[in-house]
Amino acid sequence: MPAQAFADLIIKNATIRTMDAKRTVASAVAVRDGRIVAVGSDAEIAKYQTERTRVIDAKKRLVLPGFNDSHVHLTGVGNWFSHLGLARAKSKSDVITGIKRFATYLPKGRWILGGKLDPMNLPTLAEIDSVSPDNPVLIWFNDPNTVAVNSLALKAAKLPLDTHVLRGSPLQFAKRAIPANNATNWGEIIEAASKYAAANGVTSIQDVHSDDLRIYLRQLDRQGKLLTRVYDCVGLSNWENDTRVGLPEKTDTAMVRGGCLKWMAEGVDGEEVELGKRFAAADKAGLQVLVHAIGPRSNANTLSAFEYVAAQNGKRDRRFRIEHATRMRSADHGRVLRNDVIMSMQPALFGIGSDDFRTLFSRKTRVAFGSDASMIDIDPLEGIHDAVNFGPSSISVDQAVAAYTFGSAYAEFQEQEKGTIEVGKLADVVMLSSDIFRIDRSFIRDSRVEITIVNGRVVFESGEDQSQMH
Ligand SMILES: [Zn+2]
Repeated sequence: MPAQAFADLIIKNATIRTMDAKRTVASAVAVRDGRIVAVGSDAEIAKYQTERTRVIDAKKRLVLPGFNDSHVHLTGVGNWFSHLGLARAKSKSDVITGIKRFATYLPKGRWILGGKLDPMNLPTLAEIDSVSPDNPVLIWFNDPNTVAVNSLALKAAKLPLDTHVLRGSPLQFAKRAIPANNATNWGEIIEAASKYAAANGVTSIQDVHSDDLRIYLRQLDRQGKLLTRVYDCVGLSNWENDTRVGLPEKTDTAMVRGGCLKWMAEGVDGEEVELGKRFAAADKAGLQVLVHAIGPRSNANTLSAFEYVAAQNGKRDRRFRIEHATRMRSADHGRVLRNDVIMSMQPALFGIGSDDFRTLFSRKTRVAFGSDASMIDIDPLEGIHDAVNFGPSSISVDQAVAAYTFGSAYAEFQEQEKGTIEVGKLADVVMLSSDIFRIDRSFIRDSRVEITIVNGRVVFESGEDQSQMH
């Protein structure tokens, strides 16, 4: 048997919706070295199995291309796990569950910090230790002179005490044991975000926060701790201040890439003239421009600026994007189509009736779906649920899933690499607990991610904590 016929990983006995152009449905897929090497029936794929192959029996469950979230604030998601607010905890078990969830997503050793603990709900030291054996814990009471800690925190503070409730100087020792860079330890913060994204079936993130994180992302990737691909965008003005920032780099990989700039249109009269010039300069440098626009004027001004760039710089596969693109005048939709502009939209963010998805999709508009996490949860099933339960402007499950996979891949110039389950593509797939194409659509949000695979590697398996942030 030729070497390429061996697989590292096989999923069989599945309902694989490949989301390819023909919407092929298969039952098995074989993966080798991070790529899909075969898609077909169980019998066809069995040929790729050796004693070293990991075989996942899907038990008929739904397998889809991994979700690609086109609009995320990555450090915001990571910082959900930087403070455990307990004001709404009603019982000791709520407190323990909260600590356990943080311990699930935070890297080992990172402190679990929190506040507003009601002393009535104080867990014992053994209870905190049992859910957080690898992370020091320090949680403030309602009373700002008292904290609860765990054994690791006592050890870090060199406090040989038999109490885990600290006041006065022991409290000061414990506080001083927290690393000074805790709030700016971007590697740890991103690692938590990536672990949480993986638990939600998100295999690619497009980070629209205007910061440059590639140095941290690459480091995590080298350590095997980056569980989601990231397309890292920076602010347009960051690039204007230093034109070395934001460019694609030689060290870019399919895991960590740059090349996009973000701006926010304000919707004021005349801004399109200045924006057109600024976007034209970025476009000339080969960068992709993403513009946040909400409301009719911001959208219209952004489209005018894009038209100016096309007139100035000529035809090019530039894939201009409007982020949110909500409440655009319907008269402007033709301009979106003529200029091949991508609408990067967040169905769970703006709510029912905000936009007429049905008309947009029927016109074959390029739409990429995302969440806008950390504004809301990153869960793609929430967005798909809302897009198909949108009243008269609803779209089909197929259209919503396509926008959250292939549509988002196209929006980051990666549709040749991901967005469908096809031979040669990156092995990014997700398995769900129920077939969202067949169940009553009002239950889609109750479906859960069972397995997430990125680059052929299982990065999440259920059984771990899957409780939602919001
Ligand atoms: Zn945003």
